[in-house]
Amino acid sequence: APILTLDRVSKTYRSGGWLGRSKRVTHAVREVSLELLRGSTLGIVGESGSGKSTLARCIVRLLDPDDGHIHFTAPDHSPLDLATLSRRQLRAHSRHVQMVFQDPYASLNPRRRVGEQVAQGPIVHGTPRAQALARARELFELVGLDPDATRRYPHEFSGGQRQRIGLARALALEPQVLVADEPVSALDVSVQGQVLDLLARLRQQLGLSLLFITHDLRVAAQICDRIAVMKDGAVVEAGSAAQIFTSP
Ligand code: ADP
Ligand code: ADP
Repeated sequence: APILTLDRVSKTYRSGGWLGRSKRVTHAVREVSLELLRGSTLGIVGESGSGKSTLARCIVRLLDPDDGHIHFTAPDHSPLDLATLSRRQLRAHSRHVQMVFQDPYASLNPRRRVGEQVAQGPIVHGTPRAQALARARELFELVGLDPDATRRYPHEFSGGQRQRIGLARALALEPQVLVADEPVSALDVSVQGQVLDLLARLRQQLGLSLLFITHDLRVAAQICDRIAVMKDGAVVEAGSAAQIFTSP
């Protein structure tokens, strides 16, 4: 059963239009329909500018689509249309669907211990501080980091380790869906495999559903069950990794 369903989702950016210039209109996402099956990994693959990040931001509600519908289905619940969520439902959704970014360094505070940053989400959602910090240590172990490293600062970690911290921070909110936007693209190829293996293990262990965004078809083929190929904002092809790879 699908945990996320996208039905003809569209998003247009309008920019400029000042000093008599005409507005520039970018159809970043055009009528995209997709299903993410529970417990599976769906790859969104496309060149830079094909609309992958815009789509991801609509799913985590950083952006509102102009058209179409996105439904999220929690276990034992009926589908919720993201456009019509109450504030309480929206707060719940923000936990259920977490995002990891290409460069977690950009979103980590350089002056705060990484463990505190992993604990921050749960603390904001009402978890007692001591409990959230203890959980951060467990999450570090889960993603293959030394629990004592929670006391360190972001600059003390390598790129691969920082991606693990970004994962720990996303997992702290116990999401059901992880949206990973180019999570290994900034890493050396030798480290990419380790982070992909970690993602695959976490998905299995935690029963996550994974939306994996990448420009790299080879990376997608390593981790995805199904792949949707985007071009100029639209899905132009969808199928199993094997099907996508052997298509002309
Ligand atoms: P990516 O291709 O990985 O999404 P980009 O380097 O294209 O990254 O974009 C980086 C940031 O700039 C993003 O926040 C994106 O929304 C924004 N951006 C991209 N293209 C434009 C544009 N034409 N006008 C304004 N902002 C843009
Ligand atoms: P991708 O993630 O595949 O690189 P994006 O979703 O970042 O694609 O971009 C899709 C299109 O939308 C591109 O043409 C990009 O320049 C444009 N775009 C992205 N963000 C913005 C923005 N904030 N303002 C205007 N245009 C944008």
